[in-house]
Amino acid sequence: MNYDLVEMFREKLDSFTISDYYGLNSPGLTCYLNSVLQVLFMTEDFREAVKRCCSKDSTTIDPQLERLFGDLQRSMAKTHDVINKLGITNVYEQRDAAEYFERILCWTSPEAAKIFKGELNHKTECLKCKDRNDSRSSFWFLPLVVEDLLCQTYSVEDGLKAFFKGKKVCGDNKMFCNRCNKKRNADFGCEITHNPEILTLLLKRFSFDYKCRCYVKLHCNVDVPQTLHIKNCKYDLYAIVNHFGNLTGGHYTAHIKSFETHVVSLQ
Ligand SMILES: [Zn+2]
Repeated sequence: MNYDLVEMFREKLDSFTISDYYGLNSPGLTCYLNSVLQVLFMTEDFREAVKRCCSKDSTTIDPQLERLFGDLQRSMAKTHDVINKLGITNVYEQRDAAEYFERILCWTSPEAAKIFKGELNHKTECLKCKDRNDSRSSFWFLPLVVEDLLCQTYSVEDGLKAFFKGKKVCGDNKMFCNRCNKKRNADFGCEITHNPEILTLLLKRFSFDYKCRCYVKLHCNVDVPQTLHIKNCKYDLYAIVNHFGNLTGGHYTAHIKSFETHVVSLQ
């Protein structure tokens, strides 16, 4: 990681006055957190819910978020309280924005966090006896595996179709069927059983490079549609968290369309 370069880039970005909004003044290299906090701040229903639900319960992160959001409406704000609450001790260690998005929502009161919460049903069907098993799980985001398409553009719409497309598991991946009491070929698939009010997609931009024997970042272009339709729900794009650099180091920024001014700005 080129520490000086990242630090210089961060300072430059912090000093720009390019929107109607304020930046976050944080110690170290916590751009992974700042980008997520700015998106949460700019999510109207979440901002309101945190203010409304803000419990005195010290186990939630609501009080710290509520204070931060209040500060951000007036001036550049400091993230120290949130950093302490999340237990981040080394502010110079780069982390993953998606991991911290999830961590913040897990620590937020359920009433506020539910805006981002969806539910999936995973179904497995034995191809021999047709016995079907269903299991439900909640999600904060849907992970889409970006494919290395040799410089072609990856389509988020196609990625979502692939995510929900059923697949057969066979060979070494056979599933154990309780009714047959044996490992069998099976159909596997998942569907949304509860649409989150706000849908978050995680683009997994890395693959294993067998030549280097390590994971590498995929830098291909990605086509993100302005509007997505999933099971009778329409989602309009309003925020993107971007990562520049590679898997060993880089910088996160967020592009957010304001619900107040409808202008897109870089945070
Ligand atoms: Zn069976």
